[in-house]
Amino acid sequence: MSKYQPSAFRYQSMSYRRSGKSGLVFPALSLGLWHNFGYVNVFENSRNLIRTAFNHGITHFDLANNYGPPPGSAESVFGEILKLDFRSYRDEMIISTKAGYTMWDGPYGDWGSKKYLVSSLDASLQRMKLDYVDIFYHHRPDPGTPIAETMQSLDLIVRQGKALYVGLSNYTADQTAEALTILKQLGTPCLIHQPKYSLFERGPESGLLHLLEDSGVGCIAFSPLAQGLLTDKYLNGIPVDSRVMTSGQFLKESNITTGKIEKVRLLNEIAQNRGQKLVHMALSWILKYPVVTSVLIGASRPEQITDALLCLENLTFSDEELKAIDTALSNE
Ligand code: NDP
Repeated sequence: MSKYQPSAFRYQSMSYRRSGKSGLVFPALSLGLWHNFGYVNVFENSRNLIRTAFNHGITHFDLANNYGPPPGSAESVFGEILKLDFRSYRDEMIISTKAGYTMWDGPYGDWGSKKYLVSSLDASLQRMKLDYVDIFYHHRPDPGTPIAETMQSLDLIVRQGKALYVGLSNYTADQTAEALTILKQLGTPCLIHQPKYSLFERGPESGLLHLLEDSGVGCIAFSPLAQGLLTDKYLNGIPVDSRVMTSGQFLKESNITTGKIEKVRLLNEIAQNRGQKLVHMALSWILKYPVVTSVLIGASRPEQITDALLCLENLTFSDEELKAIDTALSNE
């Protein structure tokens, strides 16, 4: 691959949104490395995905210790791409990682103890060849560890200089409220929450989004396309190059039910009436909420990133459109 020279126009079309009441702004679209960055994937494609994103003002890249497969390999691959192409651009990037799911054998490679979180971040930094990450998340709540210990670990990591900010992911509204209070007391306020949020996952609307807004904390919605379901790709069967066929671990053939596809078909019609593709409507529907800082997409090829960016052209919805969307989603 030729030497990378980022586009001189990279900051011209992206919009940047502030995360809650913090000093940090995020691109409206961020790129996640959950899929398509493992050792199982083609390195040059992964490299092209990062180049394409950065060329279009996507400054935020989201990882976790366990992304791959195998676990850890997405961070290693990303570290290699950073070394090859982005050595001079680290200060233009927001890089996040997480710990909270199973990472290594034994009782100290999972959940939310200080023992796990501190050593996991050290290993992540080594894999990415970084001195620090911009955001370190606790990936999921741990019923076995006192929440105070987990929050003290996040605070410690920031004081050690290994992360600039901290975030929470998959915490319910109640768990988030408790965590936010502790983090504030410790002097390391939570920057952002990362919930699963899409047209098909409306959970954050019952409490979490209000809490984040009231607390001045940002929100970055993961799997905003429901792993690709909220596009037109599954309307006429399952394409061979889709996530269901290429991975099949988290989005399975059994998830593509007739009921789901009927909803997708109805949503697709609403999108067309708005002059959008479904993929764009699914993203702009999330971004219409001011509390949402960014939508965190995945992509298997660079054109999907440039395509997804077109959602920014129309972020407003009429009451009729919103009603029609809710009706389509309640269709049984
Ligand atoms: P999405 O819902 O955006 O799904 C991504 C998939 O959608 C792509 O792989 C592709 O599918 C399809 N797609 C994307 N753009 C287009 C397009 N323009 N046209 C057609 N299809 C498109 O997100 P993910 O589920 O990948 O999650 C995104 C990120 O969220 C992750 O990488 C990770 O960083 C984060 N995440 C966090 C979790 C947490 O617990 N905190 C859990 C899960 C994800 P295909 O591969 O079929 O081409």
